[in-house]
Amino acid sequence: MKYFLAIIGGGPAGYTAAEKASKAGKDVVLFEQNAVGGTCLNVGCIPTKSLLYGAKQYYNATHAQKYGVTAENVAFDFAAMQKRKTIVVRKLVAGIKARLNNEHCTLVNGAAKILSPSESEANGLCSFSEQGERSYCVECNGQLYEAQYIMICTGSTNFVPPIPGIKDNPAVWDSTDALAATELPKSIIIVGGGVIGMEFATLYHELGVPVTVIEAMPTILPNLDPEVVQILLDKYRKAGINILTSTKVESINGNELTANGQQLTAEKILVSVGRRANLQGLEALKDLELNRGAIVIDEFCRTSLPNVYACGDVTGKIMLAHVASRQAEVAVAKMLNDQMLNDPYGEADRSTGGRLEMVNYNAIPSVVYTNPEIASVGITEAQAESMSIPVEVRKLPMTFSGRFMAENEGETGLCKMIIDANNHSVLGVHMIGNPCSEFISAASFAVSNGYTTEEMQQVVFPHPTVSEILHEIL
Ligand code: NAD
Repeated sequence: MKYFLAIIGGGPAGYTAAEKASKAGKDVVLFEQNAVGGTCLNVGCIPTKSLLYGAKQYYNATHAQKYGVTAENVAFDFAAMQKRKTIVVRKLVAGIKARLNNEHCTLVNGAAKILSPSESEANGLCSFSEQGERSYCVECNGQLYEAQYIMICTGSTNFVPPIPGIKDNPAVWDSTDALAATELPKSIIIVGGGVIGMEFATLYHELGVPVTVIEAMPTILPNLDPEVVQILLDKYRKAGINILTSTKVESINGNELTANGQQLTAEKILVSVGRRANLQGLEALKDLELNRGAIVIDEFCRTSLPNVYACGDVTGKIMLAHVASRQAEVAVAKMLNDQMLNDPYGEADRSTGGRLEMVNYNAIPSVVYTNPEIASVGITEAQAESMSIPVEVRKLPMTFSGRFMAENEGETGLCKMIIDANNHSVLGVHMIGNPCSEFISAASFAVSNGYTTEEMQQVVFPHPTVSEILHEIL
């Protein structure tokens, strides 16, 4: 059977594209070698958030005295937390499968490989349309599939840095190992104080495991607003998390680690120093343009090859699930538009500069699920400076919100707004304080649509909510 679209990888990019193209009445085949849902659903966002929620319940119960509540004999069962996590993941994966099934998308469980034009021709599958348009051939589980469009959504895997003693060391975990463990480690060293590192530091600390974080840069979470990060750093250090910055790991021997000449020991060493694009199965695409190991895409997620798109972590743009699914929406909209115009290579759009929807990379919200949470969207003060954009920076402690005061005893939080000094448009918002992850989308609306502070002032925020901080700061 010839498909309109063959998608390799069933994470947020792949399943979003499959659903959208199938809904439009197109024949779609989706290849996934593991479970649909990808890293996010199976070994990333969802399992970590499930475990973090369990840890937060325990932590809150044991720190409830400040709210006038004394809880005695509070205990947790890590195996039960893990079991619940597995059930949450299983339900969500089943939901994705059902959605794909409802849209009559063909789901193939296996590792797919794109064939070269000569291999495809040898199989009699590399056909050409009247317009000279070539189709692609994908092999999976010994079967061949032909498709007009290809979408590469193969994601990323944990990067293993070249540290002596790291490979094949049972004391060394990556985030997938940590999520699969049925027992808590007695102590842990986390190498990399980025998003994964700080979320796991939160999980283990809240469950009473001694944690050391080793970060090579002068600060943890180096891409975020430094004032926001400092609040987390101060709180975590005060709470007893050992955070070593500007520290390089020299070697690992069993469960002993040497960093900046200092010896550190823990039962487990979790390495979270970034992720790299997965390019397996794409070897036949010899002319596929790469940059630093990731697939280069244009504003519609088109690669350097005709009718081959790429979305998600494999593009190395911003490794977030919501970026992947937005890219997939844009890519499918572009394919459908080209079909409608009978313009298979999208030349009309290339020459007009694109009339279609695109991903607004300047307004991607991001959240770090520490306690307190960090949420941000748009540019930071430092980025504005490096781009020579004159800005006004407004700051307000979260305690200006009545609801925050009522529910966050002992916390101050911070909301920072970066405003264009010339036209007063909101360019960035950076916050720390619970539950800022739940209302960063209001700031995303403002940044994405270029709202001015005057326009935002006219929006009514419900009282009392922590979200009111976005109004108070104006
Ligand atoms: P990251 O890039 O966020 O952080 C890696 C950190 O490791 C950086 O701070 C870096 O300076 C440090 N580092 C690198 N080499 C080191 C070394 N040898 N020793 C010590 N420190 C070193 O990467 P990550 O935390 O692995 O996360 C991977 C991707 O997954 C990121 O793109 C992240 O945004 C995404 N993710 C997102 C969420 C979320 O949205 N909440 C959660 C988890 C992961």
